[in-house]
Amino acid sequence: MIAKVIVDVPSRQTDRPFDYEVPGAMEEWIAIGSRVGVPFGGRTLQGFVIGLAEQSSLPSSRLKPVAELLDGVPPLLPDMIELSEWLSAKYCCSRIQALQAMIPAALKGKEERRIGLGDEDAPHGLSKELMEWLGEQAGLVKLDALLERFPDQARMMKGALQSGALLQQAAIKDRLAARKVQTVFLPESREEAERALEALGAKAAKQRAALSYLLEHGGPMSIQALAAASGASPASIRSLVDKGLLIMREVVSERDPFAHREFERTEPLPLTATQQAVFRRIANALDAGQADVMLLHGVTGSGKTEVYLQSIANCLKQERQAIVLVPEIALTPQMVERFKGRFGEAVAVLHSRLSNGEKLDEWRKIRSGRARVAIGARSAIFAPFERIGLVIIDEEHESSYKQEESPKYHAREVAVRRAKQHGAVVVLGSATPSLESFAAANRSPAPGQEPMLLSMAERVGGRPLPSVDIVDMREELRDGNRSMFSRRLHEALLARLERGEQSVLLLNRRGYSTFVMCRSCGYTATCPHCDISLTFHQKARQMRCHYCGHAEQAPATCPSCESEHIRYFGTGTQKVEEELARLFPGIRVIRMDVDTTSEKHAHEKLLKTFGDRKGDVLLGTQMVAKGLDFPFVTLVGVIAADTSLNLPDFRAAERTFQLLTQVAGRAGRHHLQGEVIVQSYSPEHYAITTAREHDYEAFVREELRHRSQMGYPPYCRLVLVTMSHEQLALLAEVGQSFAAELRALAEHEGVLAPLHSGLPRALEILGPVASPIARMKDRYRFQCVIKYRGSIDASALVRRALQPFTEGTQQSVLFSVDVDPQVIL
Ligand code: ADP
Ligand code: ZN
Ligand code: ZN
Repeated sequence: MIAKVIVDVPSRQTDRPFDYEVPGAMEEWIAIGSRVGVPFGGRTLQGFVIGLAEQSSLPSSRLKPVAELLDGVPPLLPDMIELSEWLSAKYCCSRIQALQAMIPAALKGKEERRIGLGDEDAPHGLSKELMEWLGEQAGLVKLDALLERFPDQARMMKGALQSGALLQQAAIKDRLAARKVQTVFLPESREEAERALEALGAKAAKQRAALSYLLEHGGPMSIQALAAASGASPASIRSLVDKGLLIMREVVSERDPFAHREFERTEPLPLTATQQAVFRRIANALDAGQADVMLLHGVTGSGKTEVYLQSIANCLKQERQAIVLVPEIALTPQMVERFKGRFGEAVAVLHSRLSNGEKLDEWRKIRSGRARVAIGARSAIFAPFERIGLVIIDEEHESSYKQEESPKYHAREVAVRRAKQHGAVVVLGSATPSLESFAAANRSPAPGQEPMLLSMAERVGGRPLPSVDIVDMREELRDGNRSMFSRRLHEALLARLERGEQSVLLLNRRGYSTFVMCRSCGYTATCPHCDISLTFHQKARQMRCHYCGHAEQAPATCPSCESEHIRYFGTGTQKVEEELARLFPGIRVIRMDVDTTSEKHAHEKLLKTFGDRKGDVLLGTQMVAKGLDFPFVTLVGVIAADTSLNLPDFRAAERTFQLLTQVAGRAGRHHLQGEVIVQSYSPEHYAITTAREHDYEAFVREELRHRSQMGYPPYCRLVLVTMSHEQLALLAEVGQSFAAELRALAEHEGVLAPLHSGLPRALEILGPVASPIARMKDRYRFQCVIKYRGSIDASALVRRALQPFTEGTQQSVLFSVDVDPQVIL
């Protein structure tokens, strides 16, 4: 048997399967999707089996055997192997990158070398002590351990390995072992233990407590749990073990990130007529058992989540599994609560803030079939289920569904592809669908087909959407108000404080810290390696570059003019917090930004504090806009709506509209009426006026007009190719020849034409030009933007055009390809 293996080497030359012989004993176990260790270029590397065959084109003398099989159950399923092929073709990444993206980080094994005694007669020159020590160790020892013990003999070891006096074996070791818990048992004879208990003196009260607890309740129990339950210390339990009165063993135990939590069970609610219609549409699609995609456009609070829950219950009844994607799960603990509350143990949560070990154990719950619903951020789309029935992507417009490092996949596209493989239904849900999804769903259905666009235009129970007021900040300034709060927002906050209601304040800015600036000469601190300003970090009083990690101590005087008027602004939210404390003495502010949420579970804790009404104001960045549902929030304030509007990005207006709608949806979700105040310097912009009217369709109409004029998605698709090099001249030259190569290929395919030509298939290439961030980590950056329309395999064209530039080993210009980019920086 021959295994075709994709080996973990990040180079284009090795981006293909290699043949290995499968040792007889392994044949029963190895499968497509298995993870193996294989010899490769003198090392042992991890790889994935993507195919099995009876014959190889290589002569058997050149075939090496698979060294080891790493898991009893293959971590990947055959359909995922197929998916990886599609991923690498579509997103121009290597096959191994695609495969690695599908498994938890803990399963990215690394090589570990072990040393043992070899040929007795071979010369070595190592000390007798070393040889004896090695002899005493049963089996092989880690090279590291040997080096640590005998550091002065490192050179001799090399010689001994060469001569054969020592032998070396390499194996793949997971980055993480299973969690082992020290667990105690009662000894075989219960009577003996009882007698021993009697015999324990009065001094050993703690030991008595532990032993009698275990006698009463039985075991086994972890030392920690026994200590907690009996009041004994772990040390006293260990001394019972030493005396032989208890038996201790290490037991593999699963990490359960939710062990400390209880979830209240909830029952399905009777659906409203609108919900019922959507539910039926999804149920019919599930029954049909064919791949289907639909877009659920439902305003905030329209009851989408309840429809998801009941549709999933429906899917589980059919013995199929469901995946739920949420933008950033740490931000939506309430979502997790609702799913755990409905489906309990059947839910696995793939949370970005979990440790690698916890992630692995949640993943195992899925792979082993114990979990049937996976909820998580974008990578949960790779949950290894065998029969997917339903994939739900909540807040489908969120940019976090796009991965920014290779493979630069979009979870929505992957979902559609996986659904095709499984005959599953994809439901994209949002109050503000992306223009791409809306345009795709809004087409009239083919004859005999159900429409793709479903809509829930009203809140459950007829609760009104909150009223949105726009405040023109230019007028405030004209009237002499220089504060960051308009009079309107000030009054509204005051009223909430008086009534004991709560407010959410959003500071809409993308970066979190501001730069360092001299008020005398205008100097700003920039990174010496990148064309970007350094950001100030209050805690360490350091200035850091977010791209390359460069850090330096913040100077006390301006390095340029030596003025002392150099200012370090903390995070924008910090400033707002200070201002709030000044204006409203005694106000309780809960600040949620990167600085206050770096610790695990920090989001949950802050939100819980706010939910318990121990705060008057929840202040934060984008984080506070998402998915929160607090009954006493009646005011939402947006400090400056313009910050995201002015970003150099064709999606700036869309992002602003989405954010305003989202955050407005946090107000008045229950019996109290909500109010939203948006402060802006450009209140007449359509993204802001349509958000005020809750008029998604008006926004889309206007935005589509702009997109069509400018030639942007959804009127075309984009590929961004970025290249970088230390030398500007070389980079410019290579950039030109890449663009020329691509043009020639497109010409040859007969698709090279300007978009406005009106041809059904057209592809145009813009650039190369300097990237918006023109230098990063001491490398200059150029980019080409490829715009195309119609059935063109642009990824394939780009890959072909790249070939001459990546094949030679001497070429040092780095290329990076982003298909359907979310950000063009
Ligand atoms: P969305 O996900 O669209 O924002 P939710 O599903 O969170 O909406 O629903 C908003 C509120 O309405 C929640 O408090 C939810 O419990 C409630 N709700 C949803 N569906 C129903 C229903 N059929 N009957 C009564 N209350 C409902
Ligand atoms: Zn200065
Ligand atoms: Zn830098």
